[in-house]
Amino acid sequence: MPETVVVHCSRMGCGQPFAAKLQERPLCLGHSLQFAHGRVATIQQAAAQTIVTDDLSSEIRAFLSDVISQTVILATQTRLLAAAQRDDLMQISKPAVAIYQTINARRDRRVRYLLRAGEISETCFTVNISPREACVEIARPLTIGQRIVLERIDTQNGPLKDR
Ligand SMILES: [Zn+2]
Repeated sequence: MPETVVVHCSRMGCGQPFAAKLQERPLCLGHSLQFAHGRVATIQQAAAQTIVTDDLSSEIRAFLSDVISQTVILATQTRLLAAAQRDDLMQISKPAVAIYQTINARRDRRVRYLLRAGEISETCFTVNISPREACVEIARPLTIGQRIVLERIDTQNGPLKDR
């Protein structure tokens, strides 16, 4: 016989149906809004005081990405939401998106790397860097889709990325 699994809010004593998953925890609509609201406000304050946002931990990155994806899911279920909850949702997702974009923005930074692509091996400099991307100046042309490896020369950390 097929079993129907109903997921409920993980907050103690709540028992409301699951609406969103934040930090691996299922939460009902009310509790996810409450939790995300508090956490985003805290992160917003931290981000405002931290000049180098690179320092914001990967845990915060993951949480913001959760909030953004979950609020999008919740927003599409508008029939479930009262007007006040929709406003709440916007108040949470807007700053979350803004902080996330700031964290992931490209920064102008000139760092020396060793680029390897097939037979090619050359020293190059970055123009700008983001946590997941880099723009580099190279002498020889590459083809689209070619796999490259960037190895940071000063710290010997690498590969940064291959694409
Ligand atoms: Zn709940």
